[in-house]
Amino acid sequence: MAKYIFITGGVVSSLGKGISGASIGKLLQLHGFKVNMLKFDPYINVDPGTMNPYQHGEVFVTTDGTETDLDLGTYERFLDVYTSKANTNTSGDIYRTVIDRERRGDYDGATVQVIPHITDEIKRRFSALKDECDISIIEIGGTVGDIEGLPFMEAARQFQLENKKEDIFSIHVTLVPYIAGAHELKTKPTQHSVNKLREIGISPDMIICRTEHHLDKSLKRKIALFCNVKEDCVVEAMDAPSIYYIPEAFYNQKVDTLVMEKLKLNPKKKFDNAWFIKIKSFGEFSKIVKVAVVGKYADLKDAYKSIDESLNIAAIALKTKAEIDYLGAEDNDLVKKLKNYDAILVPGGFGNRGVEGKIRAITYARENKIPFLGICLGMQCSVIEVARNLANLKDANSTEFYEDTKHPVIKILDEQKNVKYRGGTMRLGSYKSQLKKSTLAHKLYKSSEIEERHRHRYEMNPEFVETLKKVGLYVSAYHKDVLPEIVEIKNHPFFIGVQFHPEFGSRPMKPHPLFEGFINAGLLNKKTIK
Ligand code: GLN
Repeated sequence: MAKYIFITGGVVSSLGKGISGASIGKLLQLHGFKVNMLKFDPYINVDPGTMNPYQHGEVFVTTDGTETDLDLGTYERFLDVYTSKANTNTSGDIYRTVIDRERRGDYDGATVQVIPHITDEIKRRFSALKDECDISIIEIGGTVGDIEGLPFMEAARQFQLENKKEDIFSIHVTLVPYIAGAHELKTKPTQHSVNKLREIGISPDMIICRTEHHLDKSLKRKIALFCNVKEDCVVEAMDAPSIYYIPEAFYNQKVDTLVMEKLKLNPKKKFDNAWFIKIKSFGEFSKIVKVAVVGKYADLKDAYKSIDESLNIAAIALKTKAEIDYLGAEDNDLVKKLKNYDAILVPGGFGNRGVEGKIRAITYARENKIPFLGICLGMQCSVIEVARNLANLKDANSTEFYEDTKHPVIKILDEQKNVKYRGGTMRLGSYKSQLKKSTLAHKLYKSSEIEERHRHRYEMNPEFVETLKKVGLYVSAYHKDVLPEIVEIKNHPFFIGVQFHPEFGSRPMKPHPLFEGFINAGLLNKKTIK
């Protein structure tokens, strides 16, 4: 069985196509189907790895080391699946595949064109996961009408024609804006958007309307009539207090039944609403933990999307509300501001900007025994901090920031050459590490071996491990006895730095042990210090 759900968007971007698709995927999972999601992004970048987080949010890393769009994080968290290279596709990557083929002479002298060569490659990728799951949900990025999105829409049209009607369900996500002056919701942008889609040859089966106000029956009827869909296939998607409430909101509108009807699917098991109940139980909590995230992109939460999710998920598991503030590492008042927080997290990053501020934040956390979690660059900064301030290696640095430092506590290692990297000079994707007994890491993970995702070039320099141990910074985990993976300080309530990115592993029902430990330490700190 290979069934496909296509999700396109119209009117404006950022309507939550990914969340809509993932919510429907969740419902289908609860009916017993194996579901996965694929993203098709029309931009020319081969992958989002080099894109500025200001424009594109965080780079989500899959276990196989693919640098992807943050939507894949949403797919993984909602569906509790693992995504990989096959789940992420960009125009750049698709064109590159076709051009490589052309260079090899595979097209036998033919003129290589958007139709059929690019569209054929897109169609091939639409069905990449068909043998692994019952239903593939395909999200096409951008909005209908974008020039660069056209080959994807055309490929979707062809795909529809080449497959059985009952194998494809097409969903269009649009905006129904509220005009305050007229006290009215407006359907015209939706009508235009669907017209545009139908011009291309795709007639949606369902329209999901993002709206700030309820859509009444007459409005739904109007949209149904103008957009050529059944009335019950006009679905309201109101802003929700949590994205995890959306599957239930769709369930209440029978979205799952409508999809299964058209796809001629019978539920594989009795629908289990325990997921909804659990999500609802998250509710509101009176306990609060205040977390400061000290990073470069203070005003852009999306740049730290998985960290934000991980903190919230961990807090919920401890019946706590996490109040998370993103503080700019370059803020002169940073340390003063940190006094208002129960726990401090320094996330990953690239480049020099803000590094000294991050180090100051770590000094503050270490000296004042505030729970600290350092992730990737945050871990590297904690090594620099301890080297400078406890081991008295005043110019200790990472060679990323100061190549000629006398004390390169973080650098690109010769040992790295023996570790086979997937990302060229970058260590990307999942790697195992072995944890030492009687360490905080071991206590949190309750395991001697873990596997976590990486995305970095530099490593802690093993030459300094002994020196730093003497002043209290221990390496509690290694990859293959060579690369330090976790550092911690013992006489501190919670001070841990990890070379990897634990934030990609959190799921709403499965908080990550490091984040759970961190939030718990924040709660304890609140009790003991304040
Ligand atoms: N810039 C550092 C490195 O390349 C850390 C990267 C990160 O935090 N993801 O090693």
